[in-house]
Amino acid sequence: MSFSSLVSDIAYRKDADRSDDRDDKRPQLSSGRSYASTAATSVSITGDIKSQLHGGYSHPLARSWQAERQLTKSMLIFPLFVSDQPDEETIIPALPNQHRRGLNKLVPYLRPLVEKGLRSVILFGVPLAPGAKDALGTSADDPKGPVIKAIRLLRRSFPDLFIVADVCLCEYTSHGHCGILRDDGSLNNALSIDRISDVAMAYAEAGAHCVAPSDMNDGRIRAIKLKLIEAGIAHQVVLMSYSAKFSGVLYGPFRDAAGSCPSFGDRRCYQLPPGGRGLARRAIVRDINEGADIIMVKPASQYLDIISDAKELGKDMPVAAYQVSGEYAMIHAAAKAGVFDLRAMAEEATQGILRAGASIVVSYFTPEFLDWLSEK
Ligand SMILES: [Zn+2]
Repeated sequence: MSFSSLVSDIAYRKDADRSDDRDDKRPQLSSGRSYASTAATSVSITGDIKSQLHGGYSHPLARSWQAERQLTKSMLIFPLFVSDQPDEETIIPALPNQHRRGLNKLVPYLRPLVEKGLRSVILFGVPLAPGAKDALGTSADDPKGPVIKAIRLLRRSFPDLFIVADVCLCEYTSHGHCGILRDDGSLNNALSIDRISDVAMAYAEAGAHCVAPSDMNDGRIRAIKLKLIEAGIAHQVVLMSYSAKFSGVLYGPFRDAAGSCPSFGDRRCYQLPPGGRGLARRAIVRDINEGADIIMVKPASQYLDIISDAKELGKDMPVAAYQVSGEYAMIHAAAKAGVFDLRAMAEEATQGILRAGASIVVSYFTPEFLDWLSEK
């Protein structure tokens, strides 16, 4: 029996053949109108039956099954700006709902979030004390500095919280660049990676579960990995590389928050040009070969093709995406202007990032997602 005659056969059955306990809203075929509707169906399915897709995603649960990855709380890393002023709690005007916090404010703020299921944070140090910045970024690994003290405090206070430490010099250098400069103002790669790997080691030794160098200097992943091996702690520290970090205008609110704006020039010689897909692929391959455990792409929504490339090039590795301050601020601004609903856009943007290939999302929306994901 052909499929179309099977449909006709089913349609001509008596109504009495069907049980009366159907509880869905599907229309009951009556013999009176079944001929016309069946005929129409027969016409359409004599064409290409593969064109019949709607049934696969008509139910909300079936719709969710269409995604390869669903956001879970454990995929989220929440960025925190930790100030060297212990009692500080200052709202960051360009970043709605985000604060710079001193050590005394961190635990009370985080406790309810941890109780809601917060699994991971990434720490950015914000030195504000006079004289805290110099040409070498000396305060980056000061044992009394905000990041090292925050790592120890959070490890003690929240034993299950996974602590990521961003590793860079730009918050700590007087010139605001991500490394050590030559006299002509250009970046000295060799000195920079030596210094940055020392800073990464200091964070790892303080107890960070993961160190994440964001400076984009060539060779820093290898330098950090070798020092971790030498110190005998390589087996317990995740090395997450900001491999494909693009220059652009989406970091403005972050620089306000972290006070890391370069005092001269820009970061174009070490951050990637927005059109540089091939360069990003080479940077990803470089960092995989140097020993990175996780590849990160930053920003996220404007670089979904790069996230997809990272997943292809590092197919056996987790890929992280950083939805940066400008992306977050844009979503807030547009929602405030009535363009769309904040939650709907936050969810759609994150879904896009996961669909592209990320399984880790660094997101300022983390506190909201902890609530939203609990409602589902
Ligand atoms: Zn930097």
